[in-house]
Amino acid sequence: MSATRPAEGTPSPTPDGEDDRRRAESISLATDLIRVDSTNGNETAVTDLIAAYLESNGVEVEIVARDPARANLLARIAGTGGGPSLAFVGHSDVVPADPRDWTHPPFAGVLDDDGYLWGRGAVDMKNEVAARAAALASLARSGWRGRGDLLLLIVADEEDGSAEVGMNWLVNERPDIATDFALNEGGGLPFALRDGRLVVEVAVGEKGTCPIRVDAHGEAGHASMPTLGQNAVPLLGELLRRIGQGQAEPIDHPAVRSMLAALLGDDAVHRLGLREALREASALHPMWEHAIPAIAGTTMAPTILHGSLARNVMPARAAVEIDCRTLPGTTVEEVLAAVRLRLGDDVSYELSLAEPPVHGNASEAAGPLWEVIRDYVTDRLAAEPLPVLCTGFTDSVHLRREFATVAYGYSPFLSTPTDIVEAGFHNKDERIHVADIALASDFHVHAARKLLG
Ligand SMILES: [Zn+2]
Repeated sequence: MSATRPAEGTPSPTPDGEDDRRRAESISLATDLIRVDSTNGNETAVTDLIAAYLESNGVEVEIVARDPARANLLARIAGTGGGPSLAFVGHSDVVPADPRDWTHPPFAGVLDDDGYLWGRGAVDMKNEVAARAAALASLARSGWRGRGDLLLLIVADEEDGSAEVGMNWLVNERPDIATDFALNEGGGLPFALRDGRLVVEVAVGEKGTCPIRVDAHGEAGHASMPTLGQNAVPLLGELLRRIGQGQAEPIDHPAVRSMLAALLGDDAVHRLGLREALREASALHPMWEHAIPAIAGTTMAPTILHGSLARNVMPARAAVEIDCRTLPGTTVEEVLAAVRLRLGDDVSYELSLAEPPVHGNASEAAGPLWEVIRDYVTDRLAAEPLPVLCTGFTDSVHLRREFATVAYGYSPFLSTPTDIVEAGFHNKDERIHVADIALASDFHVHAARKLLG
């Protein structure tokens, strides 16, 4: 931690010196955070590290914990009144890492000769947590106050969420964390398109999940006479073949339309039709062949199988659980109908919910925070913003649902190649160029000043 605290007797920095100091602190804080193994379930040490850093910069910090090992951190620069409020959001937990797979140990925080900081959490998301904390500390010590409040929310248990100790708990426990706007993980990656344009993804929403179970119906029989009865396993095999292929049926959804408008022009869907517009958009970048069709409809991935409990019994039922990912607003009935359409009606089966659905949601790609991001992307990065839905999940879902917060996933990446960032998520050899941590701290200071005045 010492690296991120100002040495005693350090003279007051000049305004220019303040920017350099903040950038350096964002990098050393990210390094310190990676060196704490905060694998989901063990987050408090990260919270304590950030609290010590903020307090040493005169920022008041609150630790709010349902489980002492899984603390959340709240910090606030109170506004002077009359303006919107903004939250910088991050999660302190990381997914597990097996050191045997890694070039550098995942919790060593190694900085290599090319400027890459290696370790679990380097892109998901101790980089952004450090940048947001350093931005808040820098604004606080420079005496800045916005019209509305600026909050920092660093929460536990984002990667799992089932313990209800992180954001899903905090939104009920502490309704005072509601803000008009929020910046969280999930976006900021640049994509150089085949047509020469550079676009930067801004996550405006998240898809939901609606796991469906398909039970194939047959008739039980003794495995010594396979032709007797009707073994449900091969019946399920036929259903699996049908469910496991093909792309999601595209849905004409506002979030899909805004993505296509940004890529192909405002009238793209009208001009080309939805299917053709999606095909053209997917062809703009090699990494989008699978990503864009997956955003645009209800995806169905068969994952868990249930067959006979005994090898010598051909079962009357065999089942598969399908991981279905839905656009915001898609109902369970619509998902069931889409699954039935894939399966046909010539094999006997029954559908049920494998687990309760988790609905996604989205903010409109418009308004004051959108404009701040758009102008930054256009002016500073010479790129165009691309509103997209996350196919995964982030805590922004809770903020939108409970407080109607306009929440975006955005933090700029420029020096780390996009394929390195994407390959790092939940994977071995996660790493980030430190220039991107410093750049992210620049952006967050800029965004707070711009939005809150
Ligand atoms: Zn994350």
